[in-house]
Amino acid sequence: MDIAVFSTKSYDRTFLDAAADGRHKLHYIDAQLNSDTAVLASGSHTVCAFVNDRVDESVLKVFRNLGVGLVALRAAGYNNVDLVAAKRLEIAVARVPAYSPEAVAEHAVALILSLDRNIHRAYARVREGNFALEGLLGFNLHGKTVGIVGTGRIGTAVARIMSGFGCKVLAADIQVNPDCTAIGVNYVALPALLAASDIVTLHCPLTHETRHLVDEAALARMKPGVMLINTSRGAIVDTRAAVASIKSGRLGHLGLDVYEEEATLFFDDKSDQVIRDDVFERLLTFPNVLVTGHQGFFTKEALTAIAETTIANVESFEKTGTPVNALT
Ligand code: NAD
Repeated sequence: MDIAVFSTKSYDRTFLDAAADGRHKLHYIDAQLNSDTAVLASGSHTVCAFVNDRVDESVLKVFRNLGVGLVALRAAGYNNVDLVAAKRLEIAVARVPAYSPEAVAEHAVALILSLDRNIHRAYARVREGNFALEGLLGFNLHGKTVGIVGTGRIGTAVARIMSGFGCKVLAADIQVNPDCTAIGVNYVALPALLAASDIVTLHCPLTHETRHLVDEAALARMKPGVMLINTSRGAIVDTRAAVASIKSGRLGHLGLDVYEEEATLFFDDKSDQVIRDDVFERLLTFPNVLVTGHQGFFTKEALTAIAETTIANVESFEKTGTPVNALT
C-alpha cells in the first residue's frame, strides 16, 4: 500500500519503518493535515494521521476525489475526525485503541509527583546553587483522595498506581468498570467526586458532553488547593476558568499534558518565536502549573505498539476491506 503519513516526526519514521518492514511505501509528509495540505495524499490509498491533524468534511472530500480509502489514525482519541462525513463518503477510519495505557497513566502520575514535591522548581534552584527549601513544601500522597474522571484503559491504570501509593480512589464514569471496583475504587457522581478529591485527574475522551467539563462551576465545587491533572484532551478543561481559579487560590496545582489550543503550538520547536497565545503564556507564569507538550504517549513501548497496530489496520483493510480497529 502507498501510505501518506501526515505530521511526520523523526520518531514516526523510525517506528513506522520498523513495523512496515518494507511491505508498504510510506510517504512521509512534515505538514499537518488540513484542507490546504490534504492534496499531498495524492497517489496514496491510505492516509495516516495524528492527534492535531484535522480530518473534517472538507479534507475527507479531497480524499474521496483522490481515491483514499482509509484514514488510519496513529492515536487512540478521534475527536479530530468527522466520522459521519467519513461514513457518508465511504472512507474507512481506524484508530489504535489501546497501545499502552500505562504510558499515559505513568505520565499523569509523573505530573502529580512533580507538582506535589515541586520537582520542576527544585531542578532549576539546585542548578543555580540555591538549596533553600522555602516554597518547596509538598504533601504525602498516602491517605489522600484521588478522583478519576473516566475509568477506561488509562484511568484504570492510574487507579492501580494511586491505590499503590495508599490513596483512596473515587471515580466518575458513564459506565462502571469492574476492574476498578475489584481494586476498591468507589464510583460516585461527578459533583461528589469534585467535592471530595485532593487530586482530580481526567481520563475521559473529548466529546460534546465532556467539552469544558471542568469549567468555572466545576472548579468552584472542588476543594480549596486541589490538584487538577489533564492528560486527556485540552478542551475538557476551560483554560480561562482554570487561570482564574489559580489566581483566586482555589486551584492549588495544575498539570497539563494537553491544551485546548495546542494544535498550533505542540510537537514543534518554537523556541525562537514569539508565542501569541496569551492564555497559554499566562499559564506558564504560575509556579504551581506544569505543562508538557502532549508527551503522555511518548515511550518506546507505546510508539512500537502504535506503529504495529497502525500497520495491522492497513493490512487488514487491504485484505478484507475492514481495518481491525474500525471506527466507521
Ligand atoms: P477508553 O475509551 O478506554 O476510556 C475512556 C473512559 O471515559 C470510558 O470508561 C468511558 O466510559 C469514559 N467516559 C466517556 N464519557 C464520559 C463522561 N462524560 N464522563 C465520564 N467518563 C466518560 O480511553 P483511554 O484509552 O483510557 O483514553 C482516554 C483518553 O486519553 C483518550 O480519549 C485520549 O483523548 C487521551 N489520550 C491522551 C494521550 C496523551 O498522549 N496525552 C494518549 C492517549 C490517549
